[in-house]
Amino acid sequence: MSVQVVAAKMAEVELKDVPTGKDLPAGSPMTPTLEGKSLGRNDPHEAISSAAASPTAEPSKAGEGSLGLLNTNPAKMPQASALKRTDPQLNGGEAFINRDGTVAEAPRMKKIQFADQKQEFTKRPSKIGRRSLSRSISQSSTDSYSSAASYTDSSDDETSPRDKQQKNSKGNGDFCIKNIKQADFGRREIEIAEQEMPALMALRKRAQGEKPLAGAKVVGCTHITAQTAVLMETLSALGAQCRWAACNIYSTQNEVAAALAEGGFSVFAWKGESEDDFWWCIDRCVNVEGWQPNMILDDGGDLTHWIYKKYPNMFKKIKGIVEESVTGVHRLYQLSKAGKLCVPAMNVNDSVTKQKFDNLYCCRESILDGLKRTTDVMFGGKQVVVCGYGEVGKGCCAALKAMGSIVYVTEIDPICALQACMDGFRLVKLNEVIRQVDIVITCTGNKNVVVREYLDRMKNGCIVCNMGHSNTEIDVASLRTPELTWERVRSQVDHVIWPDGKRIVLLAEGRLLNLSCSTVPTFVLSITATTQALALIELYNAPEGRYKQDVYLLPKKMDEYVASLHLPTFDAHLTELSDEQAKYLGLNKNGPFKPNYYRY
Ligand code: NAD
Repeated sequence: MSVQVVAAKMAEVELKDVPTGKDLPAGSPMTPTLEGKSLGRNDPHEAISSAAASPTAEPSKAGEGSLGLLNTNPAKMPQASALKRTDPQLNGGEAFINRDGTVAEAPRMKKIQFADQKQEFTKRPSKIGRRSLSRSISQSSTDSYSSAASYTDSSDDETSPRDKQQKNSKGNGDFCIKNIKQADFGRREIEIAEQEMPALMALRKRAQGEKPLAGAKVVGCTHITAQTAVLMETLSALGAQCRWAACNIYSTQNEVAAALAEGGFSVFAWKGESEDDFWWCIDRCVNVEGWQPNMILDDGGDLTHWIYKKYPNMFKKIKGIVEESVTGVHRLYQLSKAGKLCVPAMNVNDSVTKQKFDNLYCCRESILDGLKRTTDVMFGGKQVVVCGYGEVGKGCCAALKAMGSIVYVTEIDPICALQACMDGFRLVKLNEVIRQVDIVITCTGNKNVVVREYLDRMKNGCIVCNMGHSNTEIDVASLRTPELTWERVRSQVDHVIWPDGKRIVLLAEGRLLNLSCSTVPTFVLSITATTQALALIELYNAPEGRYKQDVYLLPKKMDEYVASLHLPTFDAHLTELSDEQAKYLGLNKNGPFKPNYYRY
């Protein structure tokens, strides 16, 4: 059965089964069409579009999306060379598969030490060794995530999960987690998350008759949280088999991993893995007899790298990579630029439904939570400086302003700087306010934004934290000098004390504050997870030739579709274009509604 037919049938199922869908106007993306025209043909701005979007962008010749209901003409994402990638940490090496099938290793990324040289995983590092090792592994795997969200702690049982005989109640032992007895608790966590992930649940309903991922063997490497579990169980309902490892050594919710293992998923992850464990878990996901992945879902690029490095032949069967993070996407663009990407990849990070929701709203909702849980600070009247006024910075500023804080912004980009000014924030240089502010928040994705000189000049009690991806924004290493005393006052809260008694409050050692010290809103993750699921469906079902060995953005119509699936939660009523209006704007009534260069 062709994919288009499958998709059309799925659409029928959805219209019948998801009650909220019928409330939407016929022209909404919830109401699929099979005869939509591509944006390129309809959009009056077409000429500007292709030039403005990217000098290298070229529209796909292949036509419509794999989900027939999302009948769209996927526009190719600008290649790496055309994109600004600001994190200098991201320069450097990769392992590449050459066209002749051999693996070549470019200079390593400075911050990544892959365990790939270790052919064996039998040696257990000592406890101290584990800690030090964990600091050396890739940034994406060490950035703490939702530690506060996990109610289980790895410290209560010192036995490594690798040393335990593990079996679920059905006798299946193809997993490695902390404690299978926590499965019931984890199941409740997953059920709570399901309530806030309406789009994934809607996709499941659609899958009752058709399985767009039938035959898909998805190997995943993401944070293993209740929200990820909802995604994995959705993929399974859509027909996929899944094997999963964690992309971060701290982020696994042990009880959720237990529930997944009890449910028959091959999960290899626990909170507090060592570096050796981290790579061992990834290896257990891919190196298994009688099972070979044909899709990759990655967050940070470590899994992709591991397969490139250790099992390059697997790419013969892999149909595509879906990557969520800035870091992983950057790696993919590097591969693409070097002509060494050997399968199509979908850049979820730069999807509108990720960037404009996860980055902005997630941070707007969680910055206060992270600060409050760690410091009990009152926000009203506090002077706060936010470094970077991109999506994350905008979210942080909005939340703090709403709480009555006096907010200053630093920016390097005049456009974002002007936005900050017009939103009512004072644009300053950090050195102008560093002595007076009560809270410093970095959100730049850059490095050394807050250096020792600034830390020296901060006032007593100043709170310093980071909301960017990497722990490079605050020069924490510069604080590890003999004259300064570190006092751990709470989990993830350090007082760094100067000889004169001045102390600053450093949160999460400069790692992502919200993901380290608080939880993040499930609803926002639902939007990202749905985008990931659709990207998998699209790549898995795409006919030969639609996607080449390059990095793509999810077709805009799918972005619109993801958004539409979340609208019923708000009892939102979308306006439908009249025929006359559609003609006037040169749009298809069913979308896409914006040209690719539209910035939202
Ligand atoms: P962005 O590119 O939209 O914004 C970053 C801004 O920082 C840009 O406007 C840039 O001009 C500015 N900037 C760069 N260097 C600067 C400097 N030295 N001083 C002042 N401003 C500077 O990116 P974004 O989407 O806002 O993401 C920012 C970071 O947050 C990234 O590392 C991203 O991965 C991360 N992120 C975090 C979360 C979270 O939940 N905490 C969510 C999404 C993204």
